[in-house]
This record gives sequence, C-alpha cells and structure tokens, in this order.
Amino acid sequence: MERNGESDIIGWFDEVAETADSVQTQTLSQILRLNYGVEYLKKWFRDINIQEMEENALESLFTSLVPLASHADLEPYIQRIADGDEAPLLTQEAITNLSLSSGTTEGRQKFVPFTKHSSKTTLQVFKLAAAYRSRIYPIREGGRILELIYGSKQFKTKGGLTVGTATTHYYASEEFKIKQEQTKSFTCSPEAVISSGDYNQSTYCHLLLGLHFRDEVEFITSTFAYSIVQAFRSFEELWREICDDIREGSLSSRITITKVRNAVLDIISPNPCLASRIASTCEELEVKDWFCMIPKLWPNAKYVYSIMTGSMQPYLRKLRHYAGNLPLVSADYGSTESWIGVNVNPSSPPEKVTFAVMPTFSYFEFIPLHSQNQQNANSNTDDFIEEDPVPLSQVKLGQEYEIVLTTFTGLYRYRLGDVVEVAGFHKKIPKLNFICRRKLILTVNIDKNTEKDLQLVVERGSQALSKSKAELVDFTSHADVAKQPGHYVIYWEINGEVEERVLRECCREMDASFVDHGYVVSRRTNSIGPLELCIVEKGTFKKILEHFIRNGAALSQFKTPRCTSNQVLLKILDACTIKRFRSTAYGQEF
Ligand code: AMP
Repeated sequence: MERNGESDIIGWFDEVAETADSVQTQTLSQILRLNYGVEYLKKWFRDINIQEMEENALESLFTSLVPLASHADLEPYIQRIADGDEAPLLTQEAITNLSLSSGTTEGRQKFVPFTKHSSKTTLQVFKLAAAYRSRIYPIREGGRILELIYGSKQFKTKGGLTVGTATTHYYASEEFKIKQEQTKSFTCSPEAVISSGDYNQSTYCHLLLGLHFRDEVEFITSTFAYSIVQAFRSFEELWREICDDIREGSLSSRITITKVRNAVLDIISPNPCLASRIASTCEELEVKDWFCMIPKLWPNAKYVYSIMTGSMQPYLRKLRHYAGNLPLVSADYGSTESWIGVNVNPSSPPEKVTFAVMPTFSYFEFIPLHSQNQQNANSNTDDFIEEDPVPLSQVKLGQEYEIVLTTFTGLYRYRLGDVVEVAGFHKKIPKLNFICRRKLILTVNIDKNTEKDLQLVVERGSQALSKSKAELVDFTSHADVAKQPGHYVIYWEINGEVEERVLRECCREMDASFVDHGYVVSRRTNSIGPLELCIVEKGTFKKILEHFIRNGAALSQFKTPRCTSNQVLLKILDACTIKRFRSTAYGQEF
C-alpha cells in the first residue's frame, strides 16, 4: 500500500516531468539571480543587468556568453575560497564546506563546493527513490536498513572550511536524520560507527549490528556496490568472532575507538539463542561458498540497493552470488557536483537501469558525442567528435552525450566528464543510461579505449575462470610506454586456483578482444606490443583501497581505478605480482 508522503512526492515529480523544459529554464534563472554579481559570472556578464531579464532570454544569453568549463578553470576560485577569501566568487551564499570527489576515476581528488542545497537535494532524491521502490517492493514501517556506509575523516582548510567527501557531509547533516524519520526506516548503526574513520572497525560493527537487528532489517544498502561485496567478503572471515560478540553481548578487541565501543555496547546485550542460529546458518553457508548469504542471514530483507552501474558492474556477479533470488535494485545517479537522475523503474535489472534527470536540481546541458571516424583520428586524448551542447528539451533518443552542469553551488557550464545515452523518456524528462567516464584510459598511440571497453574485454577474458571455479576479485590496467613498443598491462587479483594454461588463454583472449581499430592495427604492425597479464597476490586491491583511504577517500565513494599511471599504485601492483603472461594473440610467442 502506498503511503501519503510517497504518492505526494511521486505526484510532484510527475508534474515537474510534464513541464521539464520550462522547469529547466526556471532553474537556471533561479541559479543566476541568486548568484548575480559573483566574480566568476561578472567576468562573462560584465555590466549586463540580468535581474529583470525574461527567463528564456536569460537562458540564451547565458549559453552564448559563459563558456564551457572544466574543473581546472574553476580551481583558482575554489582555492581562494578554501584559503578564506570571503568575497562572493562563485556563489553569493558563503561556502562553508568543500567536498572531495572520490578522485579514483580521475586519479586526483578535486574540491567541489558543498552547501545546504546539496544536503537538501540528497534528501529529496532519497525520498523520491524510496517512494518508487516501495511501490514495487513495499517495506514495513519502522523497520531497519543495514547501511554499509562510511564517513571519511574531515579536516579544515587554511580558511577554516570543512573538507570531507559529499557523503561524509551528508551523513553528518540534519537531512540524514530527517530522511530516517520521513521514510520511517532506521539505519542499524549509530553515527559513531558511520563516522569512525576506520573502515575495518566500521564494517565489523555494521555487520554485528545488522545481525543484532536481523529480523527487522528490510533491505541492505551501500552507496556503491563495491562496499557491500567488500563487507561480505570480510564477513566470511569474521563471522565466528561476530557470533561470539552476539552470544556474550561483548565487543571484539579489534574495535579500539572508545566512542565506537561505547555506542555499540549501548545497543547490544547477550543473545545466545540468536548467536547459535546465526552460527549454524554460517556453517551451512560456508560449505556452499556463501551462496544466498544475504537472504539466509536476513530473512525479512526485500532487496539489495546500491549503485551497480558503470564501474560497479564487475562486482555484480559476486553480489548476485550473495543475494541469491533477492532483487538487486540499482541506486540513483549522482556526483559530488550534483545529483543527476533517479531510478524510477526499480525492478529493471542493473544492466538495463536508466536514470530520470532531476530538472529542479541543476541546469543540465548535453554535448552530443559521435564516435570518430578512425581514418581521421588524430588526437590520442579523445574518441569523440563533439557538437554544440543542447538543452534538456532537445536531447534525442539513442544519442550519446557528455553532461554539462550549472549548479546552485557555483559551477557554471561545468563538464562532468560522464558519457550517457538517452535510453527513453519519463514524460518530458530524458532517462539516461550511464555509459562511462569520458576520459580514455588506455592509449599508447592511435589506440583509444575507454573504461567500458576495458570492462568488456576483462569480462570476456575472465570467462574461462569460472570453469576453474575461480573468480576475479578486482582488476586494473596500465599503458606501459616506458619501453618501445608500448603495451597494455592488465592486473588481476583472483580467488581460487587456476592453471597457468588457463591464465595464458585469458591473456590471449583479452588481447584479441580489444576491437578498437587503432589497437588492432597497431598490434598487427607490432607498434603496440603483446598485452601483459599480471596476477597479483590476494589482498593487493585491499592495499590499494587502503592507500586511497589514507589519502582522504571514503569507502562509501571508493571506485577501484580501472587504469593507473600513479607511481605509488604501480609500485604496489608490481611488488605484489606473482605471475606474468604475454599474449600470443597476434602471433608473437613469448
Ligand atoms: P565522485 O567523483 O565521487 O563524485 O563520483 C561521481 C561519479 O561516480 C560520477 O560522475 C559517475 O562517473 C559515477 N557514478 C555515480 N553514480 C553512478 C551510477 N548510478 N552509475 C554509474 N556511475 C555512477
């Protein structure tokens, strides 16, 4: 049964969707009127008085005067804000928080302004998405959510602004509490566990408390699917200790942070009966390689909810293994810069999910992208020919675009760097399919491969592993140009035993599966050398995660970089490599 609040918010969204074109024009006008006179805009508008201007005229003026920008163009302004410059540089409202984008996609963390508006839109997206979910998978009012979420460490800039990831700011905000009240679903873990800053300790407590409240847990969630897989892999090792704590009402000595200890010990009490039930379930699960772990341990859970698209797709297989028949619901599309879209069809399988753009949150433009004719390919940085950006009202079904954002938080015509495809419409709102990050990740000379290309190649190459009952835990890559000819190196961490013969075949299959014309031609002429597959020892990718966490990333936003030229990472990968293979796909024998 639908609750009032839920039909209200869906009704509101449907109304907005009917008039999305004019809503976008109004959103832009609101952003510009609020921030009239800030230094960045003045540079382009000079003395033009936009306050009295008609909304459509303002939209045309804005897109003709203000140029497209990248993060690098805004960086000097953001740096001045961080250093304490109080003049209105990007927004009239003072910016008190800066968010750190995960940086795992770009290789470098970026500062992005965060305001009250950011938390408010997060609350609204969560409420809207929850309303759509509960139409299909209703949950019990007052139930619990096992949320595998993590705040990062926060710090102050020279100018006194608080810096943390966007998720960290949100978990610490009033809106996070309001969301629980308004959606009548409560997280299992107290704030001290979420914000402990030590992801190993937080994970242990999340799992312990998730089991303490097991009968009340209505669904399991995390921001990105990676964290769920990571937590359940840890559970396979930790379950005995967790059962001991449930039995005794005690807390493992692993948990050393006093605030966390006190918060957890306040909640739990000895429960031998629950401990034995869980222990016997785990014994059964262990012999079945933890298949169906989630529904067996949380019998009332209705679904698993997390971002499963884009760079999270490689974890889907493992997630399905843990979830058994429980539906996997793909979570919404957002970035540190702005929320973008909501999944309005929660029953779509993660491979097919689309996101309906939220036209009230930011002003969106779309740069049409066309694959380059390979003969004309002369740039080794990009794979697309661009047309001029179009507004939301002019996007076409089936076309690919890069998203451009103008936000309430001071980003103007900011290129997000994500490639999306218009896969349908919700009334007048485009529904987007996330394709990949725009930046090419693997390129040696005229070859051009994106994260998506690599993902497909690894998927094909790793098929042979399942026959050996082994699984790919994680992967990354590197374009090695230190020696001529340059070549691709792909690093795999594997769970299980695999014969060398099979790995050699996986390596060959990957090399042969890159279909990019530039790559194929270069391989045939040996201007790119044979692909190298490096098998790294167990735990290598955990070391990489830890490296990022030490540098301020949060597990909630972590995405394994799919390609790296970062020297620290390469050092870790090379030190952990236990086997190397070179492809024979194009005839060379090694
Ligand atoms: P961050 O850099 O930490 O702000 O992460 C934002 C980026 O994560 C986006 O620009 C996307 O590339 C990716 N992302 C966020 N949500 C999704 C989603 N639902 N599906 C695929 N990728 C996503």
